[in-house]
Amino acid sequence: MRVAFISEHASPAALLGGEDAGGQNVYVDEVARGLGRLGLRVDVFTRWDCADAASVIQWAPRVRIVNLPVGPPRLVPKDELWPLMPAFRDELIRFAIRDGVRYDVIHGNFWMSGWVATELRRALGIPAVQLFHALGLTKRRHQGSADSSPPERIGVERAIVRAVDRVIASCPSERRELIDDYGASPGRVEMVPLGVDTALFRPLDRREARRRLGLVLTDDDPVLVYVGRLLQRKDVRSVVQALALLAKGEELGGRRTKLLVVGGESRLPDPIATPEIGELQRLAATLGVTDRVIFTGKRDREELSDYYNAGDVMVTTPWYEPFGLTPLEAMACGVPVVGADVGGIAFTVLHGETGLLVPPRSPAALAAALRGLLANPERRARLGAAGRRRVEAEFSWRVVAERTAALYAAVCEEAREPFARAPGRPVAIGVTPTAAASD
Ligand code: UDP
Repeated sequence: MRVAFISEHASPAALLGGEDAGGQNVYVDEVARGLGRLGLRVDVFTRWDCADAASVIQWAPRVRIVNLPVGPPRLVPKDELWPLMPAFRDELIRFAIRDGVRYDVIHGNFWMSGWVATELRRALGIPAVQLFHALGLTKRRHQGSADSSPPERIGVERAIVRAVDRVIASCPSERRELIDDYGASPGRVEMVPLGVDTALFRPLDRREARRRLGLVLTDDDPVLVYVGRLLQRKDVRSVVQALALLAKGEELGGRRTKLLVVGGESRLPDPIATPEIGELQRLAATLGVTDRVIFTGKRDREELSDYYNAGDVMVTTPWYEPFGLTPLEAMACGVPVVGADVGGIAFTVLHGETGLLVPPRSPAALAAALRGLLANPERRARLGAAGRRRVEAEFSWRVVAERTAALYAAVCEEAREPFARAPGRPVAIGVTPTAAASD
């Protein structure tokens, strides 16, 4: 089986932690390689965003990355890519013709690739599945006028939901949103959670992990760790506020809780390259906790295990979170998670079993949860061990790849049946980026 895996802005080859490189890149990488191991041949189509990169990269056995020459060969913010999508579609078709490939199934990632997938489905009659990674309506609800997505996004998403053969939901809250907000028919929504690499992310000795990092952490400092992109919606600001609340109670004691913040646009923490670092530094200064917050800059995935393991607790309290790989990575490291009770976090973190869930935007509730956990090493160890067991049992990339391959087989089978196309399909989604095709 040959798969066209489309991911217009998120390449498996990108260094993660920056504004537009996070969980989607990891998903595309892991699932493409997992499908390759199962014997499928996968071409990952992404935009050529670096002049030095080869146009076709043999990434793993049976997996290629195809960098399509669309738009300038440099990073372009993803919110500016929509007008380039007709050219992306055309380049993809050109590549397939030149290479003599006929794909059996198309897998769109994110809404713009979803549009390309529906275009190919319509033009070539190939079945398509779609995973949004994030939904425009949810973003709009939380970010209001600060939402910089193109205005067409939500309408295009609704049309994709109608046009593709299956939509993948990564967790129950995404499934609900697809059905309730986007009108997806329940039978066409398949839940396949994301996974974690349990060999890469594993429990290590905490003291040794701290020593290897060479940061100013003593063995006894309670350490909170945040790993991820530094965006306002990830709300690390609430974590800094909670830290200040914890610090108040520690003035007279010898313990000084520290917060490790891993992520950003560059390997060195730079408030110019990553404005959110500047915001957090100013907030920490105002609250008198500057010396307790350690920014590391972004790190490669291979380095992250030491950072998670250096923490007594992993904290992640975004306003909303479509899935959230970082809590799973922390759980795989045997580190308890205190997370916001939203989106995928409310599904992966079991309250009282693998961590604690708190309301979003609530520094006081977060501080109370952290205070309790930091004071109780036995409970932390218990939650951490249960987290590791949970990811081993429920969230392996191998299972994600197997279930994705089974889904492809099902949609291909349906497409072969006579009269397979339900009335109304194939569907032209009727929205096209304007003034773009020739860019
Ligand atoms: N990540 C990384 N280096 C960093 C910061 C983050 O490799 O410096 C990775 C992190 O390990 C995780 C991904 O980026 O795999 C973030 O995914 P998540 O689903 O948590 O959030 P998203 O970025 O999709 O909003």
